[in-house]
Amino acid sequence: MSSERGSKHLSFIETASPNPWSTYLAQVDRVTPYLKNRARWVETLKHPKRALIVDVPIEMDDGSVRHFEGYRVQHNLSRGPGKGGIRFHPQVTLDETKALAAWMTIKTAAMDLPFGGAKGGVCVDPFTLSQNELEKLTRRYTSEISLIIGPTKDIPAPDVNTSAQVMAWIMDTYSMQVGFTASGVVTGKPIHLGGSLGRVKATGRGVFVTGREAASRIGLKIEGAKVSIQGLGNVGSAAAELFAANGAKVVAVQDQWGTLIDEHGLDIQTLLAQPQGIRGVKGALANDGAFWDTPCDILILAALESQMTPERARKTKAKLVLEGANGPTLPDADDVLADRNILVVPDVICNAGGVTVSYFEWVQDFSSYFWSEEEINARLDKLMVDALRKIWTCAENNKISLRTATYVIACERILAAREERGLYP
Ligand code: NAD
Repeated sequence: MSSERGSKHLSFIETASPNPWSTYLAQVDRVTPYLKNRARWVETLKHPKRALIVDVPIEMDDGSVRHFEGYRVQHNLSRGPGKGGIRFHPQVTLDETKALAAWMTIKTAAMDLPFGGAKGGVCVDPFTLSQNELEKLTRRYTSEISLIIGPTKDIPAPDVNTSAQVMAWIMDTYSMQVGFTASGVVTGKPIHLGGSLGRVKATGRGVFVTGREAASRIGLKIEGAKVSIQGLGNVGSAAAELFAANGAKVVAVQDQWGTLIDEHGLDIQTLLAQPQGIRGVKGALANDGAFWDTPCDILILAALESQMTPERARKTKAKLVLEGANGPTLPDADDVLADRNILVVPDVICNAGGVTVSYFEWVQDFSSYFWSEEEINARLDKLMVDALRKIWTCAENNKISLRTATYVIACERILAAREERGLYP
């Protein structure tokens, strides 16, 4: 695999701020030379189809009224209804939501799922809200975006700081508005409400599956491998459990509150049982550079976007980087990693396990027939292995990175759909 730097890209990257939408646009520019005749449609990918900005006013427990800004972006619906999570975070912006929606378009196409790409978010620190305030925020936000979501239109799911409970409130609010129980309006729901077995850990499982396949292709054994993980939430914790269960040593972990390092391997089950996360563990360090310097074979990025900077890319000792998070690597850091011969399994395939089991959940809801967890995990494993095999072959044939190869395959599918549908009117 190699980097596809060109003077055009370099000039863009050198001036780019870590704005996720700029990162996404740079990724599209990199793939354009490989799109042949479809390249005439590539501008489609640079324009979100629809972006809704909503005001979310709620009455707080102390009687005051606060307003929060929320978004739902449908980036591309050429291949099917919108699909993508909802994030509650104080740094949510329209540009971030646009980028996350666009990465969903690429991801669903890379996995050949019959969806487009969408994403939503509310600019709020949910840790400062009571449960009652969180429910009100979720319900009002849902009501505002119900103009454009629906089981055949756009189907949200969990993302950073949103859970199965939040999905249950969204499903209930939407159902009250349409007058019937609409299970298929969200995925990642509790099992009692039509959720799917295996969904909670699906994204982390996909990180493990793609990591296992990539590792075997570069001659790296999972058993005994040293693994560092940034982000120990839904994605990072499930990946940590699976790597540890398969004999890897998790030597460093970092969340937003602290870092833990132990070259002999951390006890993952004990750590994940800590109600306060890393900060609740004796020996936790502040989040300085130590995490990035720790010797490891595999680095899992499972926190937020723009975390892998060129400086960190020069420091890391990993041979394999797994992007559990969306957009964690800046384009110029991608170049540093490629120059150092460090293999990156990109977000748009690495973390696609979540949307794949969300697709299974949506199918199960429509057919009202539910599958066993073994069946779901086996189907997920097979779809991800098949998708990665095609991407690997494309990367080798074209001497391009796995990221660009994933975009080549996904963009061909999206732009073929665009071209065959034609422009209306
Ligand atoms: P989460 O809220 O469950 O966990 C996020 C984790 O990142 C927490 O441990 C948090 O402490 C940590 N974190 C946040 N800011 C940090 C910082 N500055 N430094 C270090 N750690 C930090 O979220 P999640 O659902 O696990 O999502 C994580 C990433 O995976 C996001 O990029 C998300 O878009 C992506 N993703 C999630 C899913 C899913 O199914 N949940 C699917 C695909 C992709």
